[in-house]
Amino acid sequence: MITEKAEYYISEIERMKAEKNAIILAHYYQTGDIQDIADFVGDSLALSQKAASNSADIILFAGVKFMAETAKILAPGKKVLLPDMMAGCSLADSCKPEEFKKFIIANPGRTVITYVNSTAEIKALSDIICTSSNAVQIVESLPLNEKILFAPDRNLGNYVLNKTGRDIVIWNGTCHVHEEFSLEAIINMKKENPDAKILVHPECEMPVRLVADYIGSTSALLNFTKKDTGKTYIVATEAGIIHQMKKENPQKNYIPVPPRDSTCGCSECAFMKLITIKKIYDCLLNENPEIFVDDEILIKARRPIIRMMEISEKLGL
Ligand code: SF4
Repeated sequence: MITEKAEYYISEIERMKAEKNAIILAHYYQTGDIQDIADFVGDSLALSQKAASNSADIILFAGVKFMAETAKILAPGKKVLLPDMMAGCSLADSCKPEEFKKFIIANPGRTVITYVNSTAEIKALSDIICTSSNAVQIVESLPLNEKILFAPDRNLGNYVLNKTGRDIVIWNGTCHVHEEFSLEAIINMKKENPDAKILVHPECEMPVRLVADYIGSTSALLNFTKKDTGKTYIVATEAGIIHQMKKENPQKNYIPVPPRDSTCGCSECAFMKLITIKKIYDCLLNENPEIFVDDEILIKARRPIIRMMEISEKLGL
């Protein structure tokens, strides 16, 4: 239920958006109330595409820092706001520039493909960026003999390696949400719901991927539930996506998979959930906190993102 206070913040956010020519881009892992006030909700690829092609003066990013940085890199002339600067990412943090430079030097002659869940500094050291929606296709778009270095997510890297059979060395990073799903819980859920289909994000570990009926990015999982004729889904990705799944198909059942060590029934990204309606209101009111990216880093980081977008466009992704 929306409280009177929340209603006030939401109406003020709407007023300020119009007054300031601002838009809100929200990731699928945001809470439902935030997804509902956003101008656009999507996964990393779709949000990057939207950041690069809109006429707003201000982009307020309801997501985590690397996403807001990506928006700034793609739209440097716009003011990009992030309601809470503590909204980081355990995966992006697992790859520090100095160590990554050493890793690249230790593996010479490889094309560096970096998952969008990385800092601007890491993107600036990369040849092509990818998202979980296009990682396999980006790798397959390269010549067969091209050697690849993939970072920072080891599970997504491993998934891409298995799918493509390419020569890939992988940075050892993980997401604290996706590496924690309980295989035991999934097996028990499947026993209780034998008709349910198991949907898994490629950032999950191999044992969880092995029991999946379908593996895909957040938007691919959402599309699967839209088109599939099934009625029940066991969902192994951040639980925020279930809000959109329910909106699209309210008559179906969605069961979130819990982490291994938790009494909580679902898996949530603590960083994503730092963003609240109140913080969005404050942020739009004060136009702060604002995202800044060093000019040199921005120019270097932009090139591999544009390369990803060009390949994606060519492939119709
Ligand atoms: S879900 Fe994982 S990869 Fe996504 S923002 Fe949170 S920590 Fe980062």
